[in-house]
Amino acid sequence: MSTTTATAEQQILDQVPKQLYIGGEWRDGAKGTLAVEDPATGETLCEVADASTDDAEAALSAAVDAGPEWFQHPPRERGEILRRAFEAITAREDELALLMTLEMGKPLKESKAEIAYGAEFLRWFSEQAVRIDGRYATAPNGQGRLLTMKQPVGTCLLITPWNFPLAMGTRKIGPAVAAGCTMVVKPAQQTPLSMLMLVKILEEAGLPGGVLNLVTASSSSETMGPLIADSRLRKLSFTGSTEVGRKLMEQASQNLLRLSMELGGNAPFIVFDDADVDAAVQGALIAKMRNIGEACTAANRFHVADGVADQFAEKLAEKMGAMKVGRGTEEDVEVGPLIDSSQREKVADLVEDAVGRGAKAVVGGHARDGAGYFFDPTVLTDVPEGAKLLREEIFGPVAPVKGFTDEDEAIAAANNTEYGLVAYVYTSNLKRALRVVERLETGMVGLNQGMVSNPAAPFGGIKQSGFGREGGPEGIEEYLETKYVAVNL
Ligand code: NAP
Repeated sequence: MSTTTATAEQQILDQVPKQLYIGGEWRDGAKGTLAVEDPATGETLCEVADASTDDAEAALSAAVDAGPEWFQHPPRERGEILRRAFEAITAREDELALLMTLEMGKPLKESKAEIAYGAEFLRWFSEQAVRIDGRYATAPNGQGRLLTMKQPVGTCLLITPWNFPLAMGTRKIGPAVAAGCTMVVKPAQQTPLSMLMLVKILEEAGLPGGVLNLVTASSSSETMGPLIADSRLRKLSFTGSTEVGRKLMEQASQNLLRLSMELGGNAPFIVFDDADVDAAVQGALIAKMRNIGEACTAANRFHVADGVADQFAEKLAEKMGAMKVGRGTEEDVEVGPLIDSSQREKVADLVEDAVGRGAKAVVGGHARDGAGYFFDPTVLTDVPEGAKLLREEIFGPVAPVKGFTDEDEAIAAANNTEYGLVAYVYTSNLKRALRVVERLETGMVGLNQGMVSNPAAPFGGIKQSGFGREGGPEGIEEYLETKYVAVNL
């Protein structure tokens, strides 16, 4: 992929609407604007609207007002709007990928992969919109009939993080639109541009005004708090950190909101001594380095059988050490910057803590000097049990490798975390694979593969990684209520 030009960058930035989208109209935010930064340079890319609490309230009112008509809108038409948006995103893949790289930092190739992944949720849910059904059954005593129907939850608040600026939106908006819900969407303030373009594309695809309202804000707690407390809201779907998720759950309890919580992770990556080590290294590169390590699904700890641990660490270090670090818009760059200076400091602190306790950096170990928030791909061995990065989400390009002696020890180590999003297992023994998979305390498992995300599959976690599933046939259920009718014949 070749380096992009400043002209191409400016062209796509110029196309992004920079205002709030409320009731089908683009309008300024009452608090002025907030800056969006390029994490590779630290420079401001552009300014977008900064919403006040009144703006947020207006967005909720617009979504509530649009409800009655939208709840009745033909499912086929709801699906076709999503389908048209899927086609539009796919046709504009290159420019949307560039926009994503500018605001988030990941290399262009990865941004393209996210555009395809994110668009696919719209296609998947365009197909699900016409498959919402119910049930009709004879009561066990043969007297009455039991009728169940699925109805839209109502008005939803969708809050998304910065690490997947498009896909975390489409994963919620797709099923919400398909189910017939109306919504207010709030993207992360660091990466609002991809979401703004998505909303423009949905508008052009025919989504009626008021169904989707977009609020960008410099103070998320101030603007979102009153919405969560508003009795007209029916559901909150949140993707982000466990810490913020907990706070939002507390707030949502006042209104007994329906909740979907896609939170943090601390994924173990287990390699048994019967595994194909080269394939495991390939999978590890994906599980660790996708999104610069800034993924909730990122492999956080590598538990490798003692017999192959050194070989695995050496091969992984060789590959990670050879990866080109730089601005994601440059040719052949494989590792972009971290999102901001505090994230880079956090990663540096975790590495320093591990090394201070005796871990060895086989490759990397340091932040880069100069502009942008770059951190060298790092492989650590001899990581002691007390190291903080075994317990905390690293969210950076750092791979701690730790040996184990047997299956029980590997499973105990893998489950030794408050999180439960995903685990990866490499083994060529089918019985062992199933045995281990059953005992892992996670919502998802990658078996001999380093990536699980798939719009046709249920994505989500257990334990402190949250609850609810996005994608797959399960994804639309998060936006539907079941009504039961007792029928007296
Ligand atoms: P974050 O700090 O929790 O923020 C996520 C979103 O919540 C942002 O839009 C943020 O807005 C907003 N927010 C923060 N505090 C809020 C409050 N008090 N009230 C209302 N909204 C609030 O998370 P992040 O740093 O953006 O994202 C990284 C985290 O997301 C990681 O822990 C990662 O594992 C997790 N994640 C999970 C999944 C999953 O599916 N399980 C997927 C991707 C990411 P501002 O931008 O204004 O702060």
